[in-house]
This record gives sequence, structure tokens and C-alpha cells, in this order.
Amino acid sequence: MIFNHPFAVRTFNHFNKLCFGGKLPPVPIEMSNARRSLGQCVYRIVALPGGKKQKTDFRIRLSQVVDLPERELEDIVIHEMIHYYIDSNQFTDTSTHGILFQDMMNRINATFGRNITISHKSTKEEREGAYDTRPHWHVIAVLTLSDGKKGIKVLPRVLPSILKYYNGVMASPQVSDVQLYMSNDIYFNRFPNSSSLKYHSLEDDVIKSHLVGAEKMECDGHQLFRHQS
Ligand SMILES: [Zn+2]
Repeated sequence: MIFNHPFAVRTFNHFNKLCFGGKLPPVPIEMSNARRSLGQCVYRIVALPGGKKQKTDFRIRLSQVVDLPERELEDIVIHEMIHYYIDSNQFTDTSTHGILFQDMMNRINATFGRNITISHKSTKEEREGAYDTRPHWHVIAVLTLSDGKKGIKVLPRVLPSILKYYNGVMASPQVSDVQLYMSNDIYFNRFPNSSSLKYHSLEDDVIKSHLVGAEKMECDGHQLFRHQS
């Protein structure tokens, strides 16, 4: 099936009631021939008196170039509705598909048996390709757990956040060691960037391969020391 306007409007109204409590205001839905993105939630940014910025004039655009099962088209509409919900409420997420987006997506998937993805694409390679591929500098905490397993956490580049995380996990009996690195490897773009006391389990080899060339930092719990080379 290919997107058409009446189907898109029906889908929007149906899932607005079902998944968003009917709270999404009506929005123009446009058909496009875009090849790179099957769905888009677009808006304008206006400056309010006082300098604050506001997102306005929302539209959802759906591409008619691909033929997909009806359920997949519905998932694409719901994906754009999550963007619309976040942006029209002027919420700030950690990235385009950041913590807020993924929380809502996971909740809708679990509650309503949907299969919404971040990228509208189905294979692992395609999904990985959909992450931001520009290099950004991140602080990476590498955790060694008391059972020898490894994990990482991508931290904001803000000293109090780094110290909060470092001291928090060092206090945990499950963590035996924490090392900090500064890296701009694009692999780390896919992880949420926050100082919540969580980590992502990863194989040691995978971690090492992405930290080649990273700058190691020392932390004493109060300060960070960068190795100047
Ligand atoms: Zn999206």
C-alpha cells in the first residue's frame, strides 16, 4: 500500500485517540515524493518577544514513493506523531530521537503492540546508518563490573554531571572500576547522553575498538585531569 491523504488523516485521528488521549491538535498532512525520509514532522521556529524560541506551523509529510504493508505505514504516522507531540509541547529532547522520543516509542510499542522504530527502516544495518554520523565530542565512562563484564555510559561534557556519575557508580558495589575518555567516534552518537546512573552492557572488544585514539582522563572524584600529549 502507498500513502494517500484520506488514509493518513484516518490513521492520525485513530492513533491520536488511542495513543495520545486525543490531545494532539489537528495538523495539516501533506503527501510528498521524498526518498530519504518516508515521514517528516516539519515546523517553523519563531522568536517570541524576550528572545525565547517557539516551534509553530506544524505539518506532517508522508512520502508516496514506497509500497509498504498498511501496518508499517501506520507505524510511520505514529512515529511522526511522537515528534509532533514533543515539538508542539515545546519539549526539548536529548537528540532527534532522544530519551523522550524513545520512552514514548517504547511505551506505545509495548502498550499497543506496535513496531515503531527510530528510522522507519527494518534491517540492523539500515537502523545503524540512521544515527547521526557527524562527529561530536563525548565523555565516555567505561565501567568494569564486579563480575568482570563491561559497560559504557555517554556523559554530557559538563564537569558536575561527570562527577555526579563517576561518584555515583563508584559507590555501587556492582562496579569495580570506572575509566573516563574523551572521544568523537560516531559510534557513541547512538547512546543517550545523560548522567543518569545507568550503563549499556557492551563487549570489551567493541568498546576498545571505538576508543582507539580517544583521550584518557583521570578523575579523583573532585576534578578531571586531561592528559596533554
Ligand atoms: Zn524521526
